[in-house]
Amino acid sequence: MIVVMKTSSRPDEISRVTKRIEDFGLKAHISEGVDHTVIGVLGQVFTELRDALELLPGVEQVLLVSKPYKLASREFHPRDTVVEVKGVAIGGKEIIVMAGPCAIESEEQLLLTAQEVKAAGATVLRGGAFKPRTSPYDFRGLGETGLKILAAVGKENKMPVITEVMSPDQVDLVAKYADILQIGARNMQNFILLDEVGKTRKPVLLKRGLSSTIQEWLLAAEYILAQDNEQVILCERGIRTFETHTRNTMDVSSIPIIEKVSHLPIIADPSHATGKWYLVPPLALATVAAGADGLLIEVHPNPDMALADGPQSLNFDSFRLLMSQLSPIAQARNRQLATQSAKSKH
Ligand code: PEP
Ligand code: MN
Repeated sequence: MIVVMKTSSRPDEISRVTKRIEDFGLKAHISEGVDHTVIGVLGQVFTELRDALELLPGVEQVLLVSKPYKLASREFHPRDTVVEVKGVAIGGKEIIVMAGPCAIESEEQLLLTAQEVKAAGATVLRGGAFKPRTSPYDFRGLGETGLKILAAVGKENKMPVITEVMSPDQVDLVAKYADILQIGARNMQNFILLDEVGKTRKPVLLKRGLSSTIQEWLLAAEYILAQDNEQVILCERGIRTFETHTRNTMDVSSIPIIEKVSHLPIIADPSHATGKWYLVPPLALATVAAGADGLLIEVHPNPDMALADGPQSLNFDSFRLLMSQLSPIAQARNRQLATQSAKSKH
């Protein structure tokens, strides 16, 4: 249920509404819109409450929200959420690109990659230290050593860093080094992990589960938001289908759907969606054309030698080429690449 306040409503009228909601044992969530203040009611709602709220001064109307996710919905929060991390705004006018290797292998590998992707226009550095691998015999990451390399290389290149956290007991450790916490596709419904990253005050990138519906994905985001962490970024990384030419199937349509039903920023990961490097550029362009706020792309100095996800990783030349092709697509959507505007500010 949401309570839409009149444009002329006063702070004491808003407090009266929230108090009445809390008297019913429910939680009130205030969202300041451009014209109206909207108060979301979280919890099991009763018709008596609706009747009571409608009569309070300053209330314009009380609406029932049909969707099971509330804080993640546009109805609750009409304005776009923009997540700010060390000067990079995700979900604003600019398209941002997060790039780097699937797994951090060494300081040299990450440093070289960071310098190259930054020069090409990426503004966030990615790199896995704790890797969820399908086979236990595959490279599972450098752990804390990898986190230290990531933080140092990010600092040296003035780039915020993103890395995956796989379990609730790793959250404090990963949060010590990372600027953005990544929840991997396999963990999208690890609800205890979602609670824990929700308790931090770090931005969280929530990947779509391998076989999750958009509603399940938004309900997973709701777990983080319900802990009062409002900095959630969604990431479409492809879903399981019957197709075998690609690792997953990029669900391009989820991007405008999310834009319609949610205020959260959404980026696309064409690397995991396709599993093949030559499919990454066309899908990157398609998702930005569809309205994505940014991209997450795997880049490696020598993909043939990569310890994880080599076949889907771009080398530096292909990454540079992709970045040059992105600008006109971004402009067609009335957006621009983050670095272009950074350059024009100088
Ligand atoms: C990754 O980003 O390297 C990763 C493991 O992604 P996903 O969770 O989407 O498979
Ligand atoms: Mn990967």
